Amino acid sequence: MAELNKKRIALFGSTGSIGTQALNVIAANAHLFSAEILTAQGNDDLLIKQALQFNPNIVVIGDERKYNKVKEALAGTHVKVFAGEKALEEAAAMDCYDMMLAAIVGFAGLRPTLKAIENGKMVALANKETLVVAGDIVMSKAVEKRVPVIPVDSEHSAIFQCMVGETRNRIEKIILTASGGPFLGKKPNFLVNVKRDHALQHPNWAMGAKITIDSATLMNKGLEMIEAKWLFNLKPEQVQVVVHPQSIIHSMVMFEDGSIKSQMGLPDMKLPIQYALTFPNRVPNTFPRYDFKKPNTLTFEEPDIKTFRNLSLAGDALHKGGNLPCILNAANEIAVYAFLKNRLGFLDMTDLIEKTMNKIPFIQNPTLEEYFETDGEARSFAASLIHM
Ligand code: NAD
Ligand code: MG
Repeated sequence: MAELNKKRIALFGSTGSIGTQALNVIAANAHLFSAEILTAQGNDDLLIKQALQFNPNIVVIGDERKYNKVKEALAGTHVKVFAGEKALEEAAAMDCYDMMLAAIVGFAGLRPTLKAIENGKMVALANKETLVVAGDIVMSKAVEKRVPVIPVDSEHSAIFQCMVGETRNRIEKIILTASGGPFLGKKPNFLVNVKRDHALQHPNWAMGAKITIDSATLMNKGLEMIEAKWLFNLKPEQVQVVVHPQSIIHSMVMFEDGSIKSQMGLPDMKLPIQYALTFPNRVPNTFPRYDFKKPNTLTFEEPDIKTFRNLSLAGDALHKGGNLPCILNAANEIAVYAFLKNRLGFLDMTDLIEKTMNKIPFIQNPTLEEYFETDGEARSFAASLIHM
């Protein structure tokens, strides 16, 4: 049972990189939070372990074939077990929680997140694809329901933190920092031979497989430009990307007087996760601190968009809007999963995305259903280009 005054968290995607780190934050602040809903797609063993430790109200296992195993393992507890995609939405529509931490990866996170907002629940948003695909619908629903959407993505958390106390002040632009990923400085003749295992090694952050590949191709920064536009209500021209390989400055805001605020710290997702859960408060923790006594140089450079063309494709989607970001996202999901299965080369991912963006009909103001149709069409077309 949740105790009074604790914030009740629904953790969608609890077995992932963000999900497991969020549970560390919740465990370290058990006086502030309880985990009321936990969901996973396939990792039944970890979901069971988490349920036994956190004793939530509800767990949802996406893969219905695993329902019996989870149900049996939790038979001696009060945890209610559900399975399947529909159950995710049904859980999001329940009243047993105060805030959803949206940590599912990809387009699959859209429906449950939207359901949480429709249900009047606060959202701590890690699932950037939700805003890339349907940012207009998601953010206007959040305004209508007066529901805060608090970013978890480290860059957006940084911007959000820089904006505290600045509500009346105009932003000239935001500067999203990018580590540059493992292939910073490399050219196409190198990238053409890059394989999965090499691309999965990120220099600064340990993350799920999809976002790690997105970081290596710079698509992650492209998705983040679109995410920033919706979160902070910006014009495309107000979003700038700068490569900062040390990942200490997590992003910056330049105000209309030219003053720049930044948020800094060691690269550790637990900090933005914790801030999203405790906002507007800060609470102490034992995470490692940045040490100014150690020699360190912070550097900044322009991204190489001729080599990392995903960033310019995402820039096109950002500027043109409509269903183009949805097409970009769907083709990218297909490309990344094909690359992870060694069915597509590193540079071929970009070609696949570009062809899909050129093929699928443009819609300026799509409805939610049209976003789903666009996603489906873009996925089938992108998949048809991959030779199995
Ligand atoms: P991950 O792959 O480690 O975990 C994904 C989670 O989503 C798992 O719990 C998995 O079971 C669940 N899931 C996967 N497919 C699903 C589906 N079809 N239906 C329902 N659930 C499904 O991913 P992650 O790295 O934790 O990233 C999660 C989200 O957070 C992504 O949108 C990512 O871009 C964003 N994000 C992650 C980081 C990071 O450091 N990992 C940083 C910033 C933003
Ligand atoms: Mg990020």
